Amino acid sequence: MGYILVLDQGTTNSRAIIFDESGNQLGDGKKELPQIFPKPGWVEQNPDDIWSTIQEAIHLAIKKSEIDSREISAIGITNQRETTILWDKVTGRPLYNAIVWQCRRSADICEELRDRGLEPLIREKTGLLCDAYFSSTKIMWLLRNIPELKDLIRENRVAFGTVDSWLLWNLTGGKVHATDTTNASRTMLFNITKCDWDDDLLDAFDIPRSILPDVVDSAQVSGYTEDFPGRGIPVSGIVGDQQGALVGQCCFSPGSLKVTYGTGCFLLEPMERFLISEKGMLTTIAWSINRSLVYAIEGSVFTGGSVVQWLRDNLGIIPDSASSEVFARAVDDTGDVYFVPALTGLGAPYWDMYARGMIIGISRSTGREHIVRAALEGIAYQIRDLVNTIEDVTEVKVQELRVDGGATGNSFLLQFQSDLLGIPVIRPRMIETTSLGAFILASIGIGVFKDLEEAGKIWKVDRVFLPERNKDEMDRLYDRWKEAVRRSLGWTKN
Ligand code: ADP
Repeated sequence: MGYILVLDQGTTNSRAIIFDESGNQLGDGKKELPQIFPKPGWVEQNPDDIWSTIQEAIHLAIKKSEIDSREISAIGITNQRETTILWDKVTGRPLYNAIVWQCRRSADICEELRDRGLEPLIREKTGLLCDAYFSSTKIMWLLRNIPELKDLIRENRVAFGTVDSWLLWNLTGGKVHATDTTNASRTMLFNITKCDWDDDLLDAFDIPRSILPDVVDSAQVSGYTEDFPGRGIPVSGIVGDQQGALVGQCCFSPGSLKVTYGTGCFLLEPMERFLISEKGMLTTIAWSINRSLVYAIEGSVFTGGSVVQWLRDNLGIIPDSASSEVFARAVDDTGDVYFVPALTGLGAPYWDMYARGMIIGISRSTGREHIVRAALEGIAYQIRDLVNTIEDVTEVKVQELRVDGGATGNSFLLQFQSDLLGIPVIRPRMIETTSLGAFILASIGIGVFKDLEEAGKIWKVDRVFLPERNKDEMDRLYDRWKEAVRRSLGWTKN
């Protein structure tokens, strides 16, 4: 019996968690990852910091768990997606800072690709929208702006990788240059039906195939550690963070949807078959095991839990995030106040970058409790918008919502969500679902579990929120939300 070490390399933190083979958490370690903002809209991280904070987190986790590194039988990796790193295969040194998924520096390149009429091709092959989030235009920016890359590419010395590849490269002492299918599916270079890098896109973007990693399954031994945290430990699972959460929530079939309520909110649902998503949704690879792919539909809300931060830090009307629940419960309703939290525009199904936040319906009797409640309800309304859109696109009725992320500590929010959707909202006991997903895949990769179904037994319910309010009443409230959204659209356009 050994332990599984999960590395959870997120945007702001590097974490390591030790699990036993039944999925119990023994101990963890966490280190903050420094962020670099060279210009407005630009976000970078130092790849050496990514690796060193992960190493420190591993040391802490091993110490806290009181285990010996020789007892680790496998490593699973889950990571911030799309973040782009180039390094020199000979020296192992990064060639530039990591360009973080949030970085907008390649927005012009996306515009250029759209002008060249490439968007339909991108959509059909990668399942993605042509956006600066994804890795390919970040690579294009690097190739155009770092002159020494040309010579190094000629000498076949340049490696591209997302954060998982960078960690795998370092763990294996530079022996393995690979990524998994879920991370590959976020690069805007990967043909998700053929499950290979796409030559047409590589040509169109002028990106050489020689810099790309090999692609492995999400549950598969992709390499062995050189000497840290011990010699010869297999890395047997790799998964992007949102897909990790989908696996960790054991949402294995269509109709079962997970929502992560963090700074933003991310919804993913497995699909029966490949389908190009519409209405601002993305199609992505959910996981792959034994060369068999499962697709997922993905949608996101830009402003989720961060609206609560805004109430706390910018308005100062609540002392901390948790007290939003107390204020919301202090009133019976919002008094017809609606808060559209379009602080950075609105995502699917509206796709309006010009929309801005709006509080409407304020009257003489409105108090801060109403505003706080309207903000929380605004998160839930946006999720209903996405659930309805997902149902339209997939033609499958969503049966239940499995939820995780910081804001799921708020029971008022989850009850309102259940009332609004008319389906159960389920909070699991283990809310570190991203890491649990990497644990499950790494365990399958070394044969601790036979398959996902067997692994699914470790998922346990903490609390189920069942719909309590009248459907007509909730539909009436939702119609008013849509009217409020309509009034917030296009605000900064003129
Ligand atoms: P991320 O991983 O995106 O950094 P987390 O999953 O840690 O985010 O969630 C943090 C977010 O959740 C913050 O925006 C915070 O305001 C919000 N949040 C945390 N606790 C609560 C709560 N009890 N009620 C509402 N929002 C909360």
